[in-house]
Amino acid sequence: MNDLTWVEIDKNALSENIKTLRSIVGNETVLCPCVKGNAYGHGLILSSKVFLENGADWLGVNSLYEARTLQKAGIKAPIYVLGYLGFDELEEAISMDLRIVIYNEETVLKLKELVKGRPFNVHIKVETGNNRQGVKISEILDFAKLCVNSGLNIEGISTHFANIEDSTDHSFAFKQFEVFNKTINLLERNGINIKYKHSANSAGTLLFDEVKMNMVRPGIACYGMWPSNETFISSREKNRLTTLKPALTWKSKIAQIKNVDENEFIGYGLTYKTTRSSKIAIIPIGYYDGYDRGLNSPYVLINGKRAFVRGRICMNIIMVDVSDIPEAKIEDEVVLIGKSGDEFISAELFAKWAGTINYEVTTRINERIKRILI
Ligand SMILES: *Cc1c(COP(=O)(O)O)cnc(C)c1O
Repeated sequence: MNDLTWVEIDKNALSENIKTLRSIVGNETVLCPCVKGNAYGHGLILSSKVFLENGADWLGVNSLYEARTLQKAGIKAPIYVLGYLGFDELEEAISMDLRIVIYNEETVLKLKELVKGRPFNVHIKVETGNNRQGVKISEILDFAKLCVNSGLNIEGISTHFANIEDSTDHSFAFKQFEVFNKTINLLERNGINIKYKHSANSAGTLLFDEVKMNMVRPGIACYGMWPSNETFISSREKNRLTTLKPALTWKSKIAQIKNVDENEFIGYGLTYKTTRSSKIAIIPIGYYDGYDRGLNSPYVLINGKRAFVRGRICMNIIMVDVSDIPEAKIEDEVVLIGKSGDEFISAELFAKWAGTINYEVTTRINERIKRILI
């Protein structure tokens, strides 16, 4: 490995997570793993290929850029775009045969000008309480008719839960689901029957069979992480705990070892003063790579042992205390996230240091850093 930092992706873990999700949803449901955010930091192309090889049907992306990257890599599976496409991106989306989420009239009218008889699949997003994307039930009939009259094929209808992973109380999610079903019924009573109906993200898929409908869009679970502790607890309470395998290990190596006397400072701002004669290792990663400057008392793993970061995190460098790891030497491997010996820095632990969630932690690992399938 000739980079200073790299990310190893456990192919077996990704494969097993997808197979697990398949066994939960059955064969009749479209399994559409979300690979937005560089596959939650796991590498867009590499993760997508593993998912498809192990039974995923579609791929969910956020942007045209991601969809284009996948098709350029030779991926032929249906691609569903979850995010907004600008007017100037729509022609390319049609020619790439993407399916897109749709929720505003302006975009429908623009597509009407562009499709010119070509088939184009859209999925209407229903507003059920998230107040992000979505068409309200009061406007749904007019909107669906506009889509049909504009020459668009309404292939799917979807909604997104606002409060399914942030709580062990799922009443709000079920209220949303009720509105979603009412909306579907209203359309069907008016002769608009839609093939794919979908609402479930990871938490929905892991917790409730009733919300899986005939398509699911799990993201974080595909990478072996739980959407939240609440989802984990609910899952255990319902006796449907699933084994998810974290797939990502983020590594670097030691660039230098130095001895520092007692009562010396380390790093910018003199924020750390040694309390003993210390051995310090210099690691060539920093906040540029996604090793957040705001981390609260983080440590890395060297040879299965913890080495705490001392002083401020720099743009490209951190300093860690290896006084208790006497064997540590230049070029030794350093684990920033993942397992080393019996120790494990989970994305969740890293998220706690960063005051955020596991999603943000893995997604923020700089895209430039190489992802390697192991
Ligand atoms: C990202 C996303 C998902 C996946 O969410 P997870 O919590 O990662 O499973 C599903 N649906 C939509 C619309 C999304 O944007």
